[in-house]
Amino acid sequence: MKADLKCLTSTEMEIWAKEMGLDPYRGRQIRQWLFKRLTVSFDEMTNLSRSHREILKERARIDHLEVVKTQTSEDRTTKFLFKLADGLSIESVLIPEQDHFTICISSQAGCAMGCRFCLTAKQGLKRNLSSAEIIDQVIHVKRSMQNPEKITNIVFMGMGEPLANYDNVIRAVHNIVADNGLNFSHRKVTLSTCGLVPKIRAMGRDTSINLAVSLNASDNETRDFLMPINQKYPLHDLLSACRDFPLPHRKMITFEYILIRDVNDQEKDALRLAKLLAGIRAKINLIPLNQTAGVEFAEPSMDRILSFQEILLNKNFTAIIRKSKGQDISAACGQLSGQTL
Ligand code: SAH
Repeated sequence: MKADLKCLTSTEMEIWAKEMGLDPYRGRQIRQWLFKRLTVSFDEMTNLSRSHREILKERARIDHLEVVKTQTSEDRTTKFLFKLADGLSIESVLIPEQDHFTICISSQAGCAMGCRFCLTAKQGLKRNLSSAEIIDQVIHVKRSMQNPEKITNIVFMGMGEPLANYDNVIRAVHNIVADNGLNFSHRKVTLSTCGLVPKIRAMGRDTSINLAVSLNASDNETRDFLMPINQKYPLHDLLSACRDFPLPHRKMITFEYILIRDVNDQEKDALRLAKLLAGIRAKINLIPLNQTAGVEFAEPSMDRILSFQEILLNKNFTAIIRKSKGQDISAACGQLSGQTL
């Protein structure tokens, strides 16, 4: 099997170049082509001789995703539908902010976690993405832009549970933050998880990117019902992993809380949430549920949402109401299905 060069770390790349009979600095040149110039073919690597390029073509590959469709929403959010080599599809979302863009990327085709409110869950897990497929989403979206450097933030909040594909995700993160990789600041990269406790602990050791936890409930009964993973890693274990999570440069853990009418939106839920997070440097993102086909819940009234927020603010938490973007093109949180509508 030929090596996919985007999967290699910088050290591995140099070793690989050596094995191919090339000088180690050729490895660094190749990484420049891949990650700085966003090259998708060996023929474009013009500072390598023709014979070197032939060696590369024989021994290595640069896979790339096929863009099947892009859709832009009224709020300028753009959704990219990609086809993988085996025919499966995934989606990435480019989200315009005031002076920069955030890209939301997928880590798996489908998802095994079964959260009741999420459309991706309905299709089950198809497979893990390779680290090249993860990184390629960023490369492709950048290639489609006039000012690709405007993408400063990456969130692992697309399809899939990133910590269930731990090794490939961590490998991709390595090349996302490496200065001879895509060179993103680790402070601007956030991984969101439904709560795989042992992997949260591993992530704290292995990377310095930000952690976001999809909490969505403040008691085990409700969370068990909404998110089956809670039966394996209940709130007590999850919160203790969060308390232990090393925070020096990351400053805060983000907790996402989808507000669902009559399920988790009452005053008592907010008070319990405040208690649960006491002592954690927490930022709470309140996301009114996005109604999607096949999901049986509704979003609360605006009054209810505001009073939920008020309670948290009164307890001195940072609590932000986040209407997710791109709803009209099914690009919002929980709406990614990898299907053209
Ligand atoms: N599996 C990871 C990454 C996916 S992130 C995780 O669970 O964190 C997707 C985010 O969208 C999560 O915070 C999730 O809680 C939120 N989400 C899922 N379905 C949603 C819906 N229908 N409405 C609003 N937010 C939703």
